[in-house]
Amino acid sequence: MEQFYTIQGEGFNTGRAAYFVRLGGCDVGCVWCDVKESWDADAHPKASIEDIVSAATAHAGRNVVITGGEPLMHDLGPLTAALHSAGCQNWIETSGAYRLSGDWDWICVSPKKFKAPLPEVLAAAHELKIIVFNKSDFVWAEQHAAMVSPGCRLYLQPEWSKAPQMMPLIVDYVKENPKWQVSLQTHKFLDIP
Ligand code: SF4
Repeated sequence: MEQFYTIQGEGFNTGRAAYFVRLGGCDVGCVWCDVKESWDADAHPKASIEDIVSAATAHAGRNVVITGGEPLMHDLGPLTAALHSAGCQNWIETSGAYRLSGDWDWICVSPKKFKAPLPEVLAAAHELKIIVFNKSDFVWAEQHAAMVSPGCRLYLQPEWSKAPQMMPLIVDYVKENPKWQVSLQTHKFLDIP
């Protein structure tokens, strides 16, 4: 759908330069999705793996974020193998709703209520990022935290439009439950993609 070189704005890798590859296609159906134009994979042009790798490595950074849409609707084995061969670190942002494919250096799973994540994808996560939309999401966050590996980093991130209401609750929750960290969509504050 689109590719761009920017700064990772959220989660564990916040602040690091990264080349984003947004793949078209998603049937998860989040009501607050801010990339609804990604849902129809056929609405976007196809790109060859060779062209994606060449565009990604045209910049100084070697971190590549594969996102969507829901990127795991595609078989990501060939793309991630080619990126690794070109010296890139492969990071993924996924809802976890589809079987894991590809070879990853960082897996961020952000579960969605509308299509549950697969247990095996949660077990492989390096980072669990829960978008907090309302108060009940803290219970939901703990249910998913119980399904990740012991070393997985845990983040609570306010849904952008709900941040004024949810941020005080998140701050209190993290102070009481310090295994969690706050994640913010800093790219939106910085006005970068
Ligand atoms: S999983 Fe991501 S792309 Fe798909 S509907 Fe939800 S927020 Fe949008």
